[in-house]
Amino acid sequence: MRLLVVEDDIALRETLAAQLRDAGFTVDEAGNAAEGEYFAAEFAVAMAIIDLGLPDKSGMELIAGLRESGKDFPILILTARGRWQDKVEGLNAGADDYVVKPFNIEELTARINALLRRSGGWSQPVIHWGPVSCDTQAQEVRVSGEAAELTAFEFRVLESLLMRIGQVVTKAELTDQLYHQDFERDSNVIEVLITRLRKKLDPDRQLGLIETLRGRGYRIPDRPPGESSDAAAGEPDPELPDPEDPDREDQRQ
Ligand code: CA
Repeated sequence: MRLLVVEDDIALRETLAAQLRDAGFTVDEAGNAAEGEYFAAEFAVAMAIIDLGLPDKSGMELIAGLRESGKDFPILILTARGRWQDKVEGLNAGADDYVVKPFNIEELTARINALLRRSGGWSQPVIHWGPVSCDTQAQEVRVSGEAAELTAFEFRVLESLLMRIGQVVTKAELTDQLYHQDFERDSNVIEVLITRLRKKLDPDRQLGLIETLRGRGYRIPDRPPGESSDAAAGEPDPELPDPEDPDREDQRQ
């Protein structure tokens, strides 16, 4: 997940960014509102952490501007102790949550994870898709209860797709979640990671876990092909014919 940290206190920003990277996030660091706007416009930021006291404009103005330009990722504000008005104004400007300085990293990380889960429509730290379960907190993936050994990059790609089940995620968006700098980008890497994820989680392609939409990106379908909703029950999925599906065999008898 790609996080944007906007904080002009260099020591605090660098410490925070380092701790968040240790926690598995990709982090963009901005020292003022203008840099923050740049990163938010250029990259697929999953969430922003914004200090309210910035040198070029207030964090409040920055947040209001981001919301006006259609940015709907969660925003967590950093406020000074005792400035309760800031919290109210920040939340009114479009922030989702706040943390009071000085904060400890465990609290901040917990808030960040909670906001990311909520924005992905998930209130639980474990995302389930058919036999696949992904614990976003412990960073563990299981298929039918068996632990899968994923690298940090593989995990991030899977998590990014699971956070948006049913939606197409572009290669550029996935790359943004992995890399910090432009020069590190290489879309071939995403293809390699997707191939490895399929090999590890869905070796026979029976689950249909990750779909490739040529020229558009990747998608984890709303549900595994065998698991139809009530409305669609009994209707074979025209896109995913499966002659060996035991349910269909039963229907014919
Ligand atoms: Ca400040």
